[in-house]
Amino acid sequence: MRRAMLLLLVTLSLTLCLTSNLAPADLDPLDPWYRGYNETYFNNELPQTVIISHNLTDDTNMAITTPLTNGYYHIDFNPKFGYHTGKGTSITELRNLFHEMCHVEIFVEGTVEFDDHGPHWEGCMHRLAIQKALDNLW
Ligand SMILES: [Zn+2]
Repeated sequence: MRRAMLLLLVTLSLTLCLTSNLAPADLDPLDPWYRGYNETYFNNELPQTVIISHNLTDDTNMAITTPLTNGYYHIDFNPKFGYHTGKGTSITELRNLFHEMCHVEIFVEGTVEFDDHGPHWEGCMHRLAIQKALDNLW
């Protein structure tokens, strides 16, 4: 019995170790979605240097994308809009992730638009719609 308990503890410890290596606690639930969407819909042309968080407290925005001075981009989501802790992501958030990824694309291109949601940004969203990226998100 004691040997079985020891084996169980070792197995549980190994499982926790492997799980924590695969999914670091500081990784936002939307991070793997960003990587997958980048590969599938942006040909991995968007930067890997993107940090996603859920710390936005300005309730006038669902999310904000900010280019940082070190070459990183920060996509900050407001947890009040569709964030379900422990339940993964919501359709609203995945739709907003595409919205923010188009902002990243505009920043990377260096395009300056009078309106943040101008023709270039709209073109990105339109291209995603043609690729059927948004089909299951409405
Ligand atoms: Zn926007």
